[in-house]
Order: sequence, then structure tokens, then C-alpha cells
Amino acid sequence: MNRDKIYIGGRWVAPATRDTIAVENPATEETLAKVSAGTAEDVDRAVAAARGAFDGWAATPMAERGALLGKLHEGLSARSADIARTVGLELGTPLKIAKAVQAGLPLKVLQGYADLAARPVAEETIGNSLVVREPVGVVGAITPWNYPLHQVVAKVAAALAAGCTVVLKPSELTPLVAYLLLDAADEAGLPAGVLNLVPGTGQVVGAAIAGHPDVDMVSFTGSTATGRAISHAAADRIARVALELGGKSANVILEDADLARAVKVGVGNAFLNSGQTCTAWTRMLVHRSQYDAAVELAGATAETYRTGDPFDEATRLGPLVSAAQRERVRGFIDRADARLVTGAAGVPGKGYFVAPTVFADVDPDSELAQEEIFGPVLSIITFDDDDHAVRIANNSRYGLAGGVWGSPERAMAVARRLRTGGVDINGGAFNPQAPFGGYKQSGIGRELGVHGLTEFQQTKAIQQ
Ligand code: NAD
Repeated sequence: MNRDKIYIGGRWVAPATRDTIAVENPATEETLAKVSAGTAEDVDRAVAAARGAFDGWAATPMAERGALLGKLHEGLSARSADIARTVGLELGTPLKIAKAVQAGLPLKVLQGYADLAARPVAEETIGNSLVVREPVGVVGAITPWNYPLHQVVAKVAAALAAGCTVVLKPSELTPLVAYLLLDAADEAGLPAGVLNLVPGTGQVVGAAIAGHPDVDMVSFTGSTATGRAISHAAADRIARVALELGGKSANVILEDADLARAVKVGVGNAFLNSGQTCTAWTRMLVHRSQYDAAVELAGATAETYRTGDPFDEATRLGPLVSAAQRERVRGFIDRADARLVTGAAGVPGKGYFVAPTVFADVDPDSELAQEEIFGPVLSIITFDDDDHAVRIANNSRYGLAGGVWGSPERAMAVARRLRTGGVDINGGAFNPQAPFGGYKQSGIGRELGVHGLTEFQQTKAIQQ
């Protein structure tokens, strides 16, 4: 599985140095593979290739770009079993979930962009102006490890559909699945330089992309701290940034909700991908009249989540991605000043596992309720009425997602008052065509669907 080449200018080429990064299997703590550790010199070459390809790609009719995305989709679909297995190995997502989410979701997103590009919308006219949309230019895409292919495809497919060219740097913790995308891109015959891959660390490759004078836009998903550093780097040259950052989302269960369903789905949402999900509903807000029942139900539900080997069919919770992530999560659990309902215990044996953990009577201002933990840790908080619930839900420096459960009209009224980029009412399904992104410190800009496409476009007004 070792990969000692990087992809620049339409070819697998040798990087500037022979340095490598070891990729670990977090379920076994064994080294899975080694990949090249890119350098600033590699970024220079990749950006030059992307710049060289830009004019031609931008001038290619959108429908033709869409047809190539369709071919890329074919190649990626053929690799879907390999994608699920690879993410199972490098991240530890249980295979069943890896198939549906880690492989299935990016394929849907890619198909969506192929379809969008195949039917470009008519240009807009305002008075005597024709408003045209043009690609932003060379895009640097920097992605994290928790949905390692989805986060790459959300950027790459939208940028390519818009006519941008891309230099991609996946997370150094989960770089392997990105190679499968580049294999498929190579096979699909994307023009040379349109999509380039430089793996490596954030401090070296990520920083070189963010600060590169010839990168017109940096599209980043990851932590708020890194998003801030990238914004600073891009600000020096007034480059555009799109940031998908952290979250601390609330699941508001109103008095007239179907409590059993709201709690069960809420626990599942909080623990998806071992809680390593930026949209996870990590704060469960429950009306005082149903609070005790909800706490009991949440604890019992959490106890049904079996941790273990991601390749065992019975496993619901895989490991956390790394030793550092496990220590970070354990730190939050150890410092918690709330009533422990279940979990917190260590999981014996190899692998970076954390037991599914539920806390009740959580103070809305406490660390547990304010910080993004990124592990299987749920905090339950009580409220007195809808206004109180909205105040608690909005008491966060993040604003990414959320849930509301209750009678449809009442739930809709609460959903509208949440200061977040998305809200699901009564378990409304994730829509990969809907705009995705955050308010406040959860980010800037939107991904997915047509909103994600326009993120990679400039508008020009031509008066006549
Ligand atoms: P991270 O910010 O450490 O890393 C994300 C990416 O940025 C990686 O590719 C990394 O190599 C790179 N990077 C690190 N330092 C950099 C620098 N100085 N300059 C340029 N690039 C740099 O985040 P992570 O640890 O990979 O992911 C976990 C965090 O990401 C969580 O806190 C989570 O909230 C957040 N996240 C948010 C979303 C979202 O869509 N909103 C999705 C996933 C993860």
C-alpha cells in the first residue's frame, strides 16, 4: 500500500525528497503504509502545473467538464469497495458505515456535480448588465481525516465543475484514500495539471499552499485554529478562503417530541464515526418534564454501542483516529464536572478506543458544553421552555448544525431561531445537494450542490 509518488501535471512523479510519513491503523496501532512527505518545492511544482492548466480548463465548456466528472465517477464507483476498506483501515470507521458514508456519500456528491455541470444555468441579466460567472483560478484544497474522501470530493468536484484547477493536500493521518481518487482521475483522462496531489504535513505542505502567491483560493476543512492560521496567510495577498470548521451542535427535544425516537437518533448522531463528526449533535437539550426519561434512555442506548474491530459486522464504534485524539478526548472526560451516566472507562487492548460516554446535568457554560470534543461523548442539558432552549442552543461560539424535535410548526419556529448553517427537523435526512457550512466560528462559505459550486466562481458584470 506504500505510495512513493505524488501526482503533478497529469503524472505520478517523484517528490523532491524521499522522506515519508507513516500511516497508522488506529484499531491495531500498526503501521499500515508509508506515503511521501511533500515539501514546499513540491507545492511550487504543483501550483505551476495547476496555473498552466487553468486557462484551458476554464475555457472548456462546462458540459464537457461535467462529462469528465462523470467519467471520474465511473472510476471511483469501480473502487468503492476499496474506498470503504481503505477508510476502515486508516481511520477505523466500521465497515458497514464506511460503505454507506465514507464511500457512498462522496460518490453521490461527485455525481451531483457531474449532473450540475451537464446542465449549466442560463446567465443572468440585470438591466443593461450581463452577469457572468467565471472560475476563481487555482484552488488549494486542504482537508482533514474524519470523512477523508467526502471532504476531498466536496472541494475537488465543485472546483473542477466551476473551471478551477486544484492542488490537493489530504490529511497526513488518512492520505491513502485520496490516492484512489487520483488513480481514478488519471484513468478518466482529466487534462494534465487540472488536479494535483501533494501529500504531507500541515506545517509544511498545508502552510506552503495557504501562503502561495499563485494560489487564488484556499478551501479548507478542519479545526478552527488551523482555519484561523490559513485565513491569516491568505489575507496577505487578499486570496479567497472557504472554511469548514468545528461545531458544538445542539439537539433540541421539545416537550411535544417523540422522545424515544429523538433520543435514539440523537445518540446515533452524536456517536457517528466515533463522534468525530463536525456536525455531531453533542449537546442534547431536553425539556425538564422529560429530562429523567431522556437521560435513562440515552444511557441505555449508548450502552448498546459496541466498540471494537471496524471489520467486525457487530461493531458500531471504531477507534479514534490517533493516540493524540484519544488523549485529548480522555482529557475532556477526566475534567468533566457533570453527572456521569455511562462510559468513561478505558477500553482494554490495542487501539485508540474510547467507550461511548454520556454526561447529564451539564452546565451550558462548562467546557463539556462549549468545546468541540470530537469523540463519543454526549452532554445532556435541561431547559424550561422554547425560548430557554434557543438561548442555550445559541450559547456557543460555533454555529454549524443542529436538530429540533417536536410538532412540525413549533419545531420549524425553533429551527429558524438557531444561529447555525443547518438544522434537521424530526430527523430530516442529510441532503447532499443542500448548502453545507457554518455561522460564527464554524466557518465561512458553503459547500455542496449549487451553493458549493458558486463558492469557486467570481461574478463579472458586462454592461452593454
Ligand atoms: P486540523 O486543522 O489539524 O487539520 C486539517 C488539515 O489542515 C490537515 O490536512 C492538516 O495537515 C492541515 N493543517 C494543519 N496545520 C496547518 C497549517 N498551519 N497550515 C495549513 N494546513 C494545515 O484538523 P484535523 O485534526 O485534521 O481535524 C479535526 C478538526 O477539524 C476538528 O476539530 C473538527 O472540528 C474539524 N472539522 C471540521 C469539519 C467541518 O466540515 N466543519 C469537518 C471535519 C473536521
